[in-house]
Amino acid sequence: MRILVATEKPFAAVAVNGIKEIAKEAGHEVVLLEKYADKAQLLEAVADVDALIVRSDKVTAEVIGAAKNLKIVVRAGAGYDNLDLQTCTGRGIVAMNTPGQNSNAVAELAIAMMIFMSRNQFAPGTGSELSGKKIGIQAYGNVGKLVARKAAALGMQVMAYDPFVDSAVMENDGVIPAATLEQMYSECNFISLHIPATPETIGSIGYDLISRMPAGGCLLNTARKEIINEAELVKVLTDRPDLKYVTDIAAACQAELDEKFGKRVFATPKKMGAETMEANVNAGLAAARQICRFFATGCRDFQVNK
Ligand code: NAD
Repeated sequence: MRILVATEKPFAAVAVNGIKEIAKEAGHEVVLLEKYADKAQLLEAVADVDALIVRSDKVTAEVIGAAKNLKIVVRAGAGYDNLDLQTCTGRGIVAMNTPGQNSNAVAELAIAMMIFMSRNQFAPGTGSELSGKKIGIQAYGNVGKLVARKAAALGMQVMAYDPFVDSAVMENDGVIPAATLEQMYSECNFISLHIPATPETIGSIGYDLISRMPAGGCLLNTARKEIINEAELVKVLTDRPDLKYVTDIAAACQAELDEKFGKRVFATPKKMGAETMEANVNAGLAAARQICRFFATGCRDFQVNK
């Protein structure tokens, strides 16, 4: 089988070599399309492949339409909002992600962001400490759980909200389950967002929630920019000059945020949550293994379009 690795933002070389080795051992061939500048290159590259590995690359109906032999697409990462699942399902193509493989990288970035903002972006002046503060984790999935554990190790109190996770699981981890989102925002000095971008969550973080945060509160976003209601974010940061916002995914209105709110806001220059050597390798190799298992045994673990 032919496996295309199509990455506008390439994997580390060591990950690509690992993917090639896994595929070769299983008798498959890897085709590489890296740093492609326009969609036409992707449309051409997918034309005769059986499997596709992508990172944040958009697998649209057009791309799927051009991939006549495609049987499986794997998003090497957690969020799979870049895959057109409906079209995949319509064509009988299996879509998967590689959950958990980059979670530690993202969790470490969330902790770094908290320290960075608490120390005035490392500018001279008096900052504050994390120890003794309370963090609210919005979604207790792979990343959220790791942020909870690391924050607790720093002496923080940890609360979490996730309607799909039993509160006993949180309590067992020493995490306080929030009865409602409103309660969590009202009580926590930091809120760390780990919800996926879905029709329910898109635009769901806005004025009503953020304005509940205690004085000096800081909202951390390592999830997706689409979950924020940006107009309401601007309004709440204007009305509450004590609040801060830090994100790994620059807002559409980031220039306005930077201009209006200076050091109270920060966006990483390019999404970097999963940009560690370890996460690259973990996610890339997991994607290759999942594809080989699928072709060998039909295994559909981690399928997201069931
Ligand atoms: P995950 O699938 O392990 O966890 C997601 C959690 O969200 C689950 O526990 C689920 O129950 C919960 N959830 C779903 N809908 C919810 C809702 N409406 N309200 C509250 N909780 C809800 O995913 P993860 O690995 O923890 O990653 C979380 C998100 O982080 C991903 O969807 C992705 O968008 C983002 N992410 C960003 C980067 C980055 O580079 N910055 C890297 C990886 C993941």
